[in-house]
Amino acid sequence: MSDSPSPDHPGLYIHVPFCLSKCPYCDFASVTDLALIPAWLDALEEECRLRTGSFGPFDSLYLGGGTPSILEDRHLERLMTTVHRYFELEHGLEATIEVNPDDIRGNRLDLLRKLSFNRLSLGVQSIHEPELRFLGRRHTARQTERALTLVRSAGFDRVSLDLIYGIPARGGTPHAIPWEKTLETVLRFEPDHLSCYIMTMEGDTPFGRMLSEGKLAQPPEGELEQLFRLTSQYLEDRGFIHYEVSNFARSSDSFCRHNLKYWDHTPYLGLGPSAHSFRNGERWWNVRSVEHYCAALRRRELPVEESEVLTEDQLRLERLFLGLRTLRGVEESLVTQRPQASRTLRELAASGIILRRNGRIVPTRKGFLLADGLPLLF
Ligand code: SF4
Repeated sequence: MSDSPSPDHPGLYIHVPFCLSKCPYCDFASVTDLALIPAWLDALEEECRLRTGSFGPFDSLYLGGGTPSILEDRHLERLMTTVHRYFELEHGLEATIEVNPDDIRGNRLDLLRKLSFNRLSLGVQSIHEPELRFLGRRHTARQTERALTLVRSAGFDRVSLDLIYGIPARGGTPHAIPWEKTLETVLRFEPDHLSCYIMTMEGDTPFGRMLSEGKLAQPPEGELEQLFRLTSQYLEDRGFIHYEVSNFARSSDSFCRHNLKYWDHTPYLGLGPSAHSFRNGERWWNVRSVEHYCAALRRRELPVEESEVLTEDQLRLERLFLGLRTLRGVEESLVTQRPQASRTLRELAASGIILRRNGRIVPTRKGFLLADGLPLLF
């Protein structure tokens, strides 16, 4: 067995659909009724049993949510025992768990190590108190700093931080200066990976509704663009590789192995409510409701809500959409059959939006800004 990631090895994602409270901008599948955790664990165990042997061996495991770190020690132990019982995991597995800063305390980090997690993804979002309160986060900036200190002293060297920028103040102006301050502060803790997302306000969330009622405003497009450029420049100047529109890593060894699979159509198995899976051009996803998920598995049925088989053309388009959001880009052969492709490629290269390298189309920083629009040009 090899220790290095292989493009052929699938990834395993487990969705923990619980949070202590709901942040007003979040549309992830999660509930605050923690009394459902034991039933969800029973259901997850049954889902693992039903899926055993169908995928693997896995070289990445990603425990996401929701807030996986609110699970009690005994729940995490049971979950990992279940995973090991039903699935084959590669040596050198990249095992990530999403953790909120206020959940890092006591022996928690020792337990995560013991359970073979070797990568932490911390939901920091901001280190600016007014922004944290606005976002409805439960943790404080001080808790984040303490958590990062503990993580470092516990010897975790693979640490990713999630951050949000372009957060509207109630008056509608992004906090450009605190955002730089946020970057400067978190870099002191030497994370090897950062995910920096522009604030989005999805439709069916309190912020989404406030947006449509005119009670909140997105910062103007130009300001977001400026913040995006600032982020990219700031982090590249400090040695990070901007390897996906929202993702930065200290080196290629720090790329999130699990996310790379989503972006290049490597198979992955998703377990838990709302989790998506993909293999051989087929995608399926589980029911979102925790109750329906548990009920299906009590009947010993897979909790799949729907599935789709992508046509060749849909696969090509998806590869373009996903690939042009990454520094790896896509093979030119994906577009060369399209009318006017050579001219479009020449024009995009001349405008500094893409580079053409070894038969691949690679987006530049300017290209990342247009990433979702680029495939539509072919
Ligand atoms: S942003 Fe994270 S912590 Fe907040 S509700 Fe969503 S999943 Fe839970």
